[in-house]
Amino acid sequence: MIQDKLLENKSPEKECKEQNQGTLKVRFAPSPTGYLHVGGARTALFNYLYARKNGGALLLRIEDTDLKREIEGSINRIIEDMQWLGLKWDEGPIRQTGRLDIYRKYANALEDKGLTYPCYCTPEELKTNREKMMEAGTTPHYNGACRDLTPQQREQKSAEGRKPCIRFRMPDKSVVVKDLIRGDVVFEKDFVDDFIIMKSDNTPSYNFAVVVDDHEMGVTLVMRGEEHLVNTPRQISLYEALEFSMPQFAHISMILSPDRKKMSKRHGTVAVDIFRKEGYLPSALINYISLLGWSPPDNREFFTLDEMVEAFSLDRIAKNPAVYDIEKLRWMNSQYIKEMDNEKLLDMLIPFMKDAGFVDDDKTPENRDKLLLIVDALKSRLVLLSDIKEEASIFFDDNLELDEGAKESLEWDTTPAVFKAFLEVLDEYDAITSENSREFVKKIQKKSMTKGKKLYMPLRVGITGKGHGPEMVAVLTILSIEQMKKRLKSIIEICK
Ligand code: GLU
Repeated sequence: MIQDKLLENKSPEKECKEQNQGTLKVRFAPSPTGYLHVGGARTALFNYLYARKNGGALLLRIEDTDLKREIEGSINRIIEDMQWLGLKWDEGPIRQTGRLDIYRKYANALEDKGLTYPCYCTPEELKTNREKMMEAGTTPHYNGACRDLTPQQREQKSAEGRKPCIRFRMPDKSVVVKDLIRGDVVFEKDFVDDFIIMKSDNTPSYNFAVVVDDHEMGVTLVMRGEEHLVNTPRQISLYEALEFSMPQFAHISMILSPDRKKMSKRHGTVAVDIFRKEGYLPSALINYISLLGWSPPDNREFFTLDEMVEAFSLDRIAKNPAVYDIEKLRWMNSQYIKEMDNEKLLDMLIPFMKDAGFVDDDKTPENRDKLLLIVDALKSRLVLLSDIKEEASIFFDDNLELDEGAKESLEWDTTPAVFKAFLEVLDEYDAITSENSREFVKKIQKKSMTKGKKLYMPLRVGITGKGHGPEMVAVLTILSIEQMKKRLKSIIEICK
């Protein structure tokens, strides 16, 4: 389905332009070099929110011209992650590799204006040049070796078998980026050197392709991560050289880990598809991500995607870096799980339950009713959906494994009497229900002549093997009489 979408959208750029003349358009432009991480998801989200809020369109563009860096499968991975998060785009995905002729056309236009030149320097020469500059204490930049070659010199270099790349003659002036989040950011005139627009394999560089595309596709606001701010003076210079109208720019701050270092895999999960596998809810994740660098007007914390659209504005995006706190995200996830409707939650839990071997494919209605009771009993105990594997094992695994909390109560001299009474009273019932559960426990209390903790702990331990767990009534009503008897008998054996 995803592949079909890619094919269908081979050349919609003209379409977008015609359809959106004069209207607002933003884009999310990931490179297929891995997975969608928290930072990328936040860029996608802020663009989505801005488009929805202002009646504009969101374009998804895959920046895949750097074939060497492309990681197989990452386009589909990114697309699936966006779909899972509920971030719908209006146009695309458009792949840059389907547009190589267009970049060449614009490169020729710049050449015709005398604004570019072929550069024959080899990677080794560029490396030596960089090293020399670093030794001399200057910031490495292109030294302009090929800027003013004569036609004869060029011919000679070609004859040596050198394949040129094309460099843009950076104008000798400072560039001001008018950033909607950061205000005016001035880049002094020597900040940018003559940079490559077409590589020697005749494919465009990032800075060139992005300008051509944003122009051709009618993008009116470029909102992206702060790491691209340094690229913006290059891009602005290209807009001017190509006489394109300038979009607006907004650069969103970095996300730091709690130790204030740049966030990376070392700080725990950062990839959206891993969050999904670990059992985060998309609604919780997107809510958490929205608060990384954006603060809603009323300090509210919980938002659906639609509510975020309503509350979103660029002027509430912070200039300072955001700090990523996995504990807060975990807490938020648990809150979302708690609030969720049982039917929906069960559907989301089924894959994890299947994985644990608790359920198989045939969902009989009877089975589903039992599963719903389990969900209701456990939902307040889950932080991640995957916690169901641990939490629900008491309902599916009759081989009790005693935990530390359970062992304590097995030492009490009243416990054997509780077990005995429990087993006997079970014989009087076909099932324990919420209606008869009080009476059921009362009978065991009377028979065993124990109460309080000394009664309740052994009841729990006798049928779950655990010192803690969901509400006792829930456990009694979910397990069958046969299951409870079997478990009690085995624990009585263990205690002998
Ligand atoms: N392809 C770039 C990236 O993945 C984004 C470039 C842009 O938004 O201009 O970082």
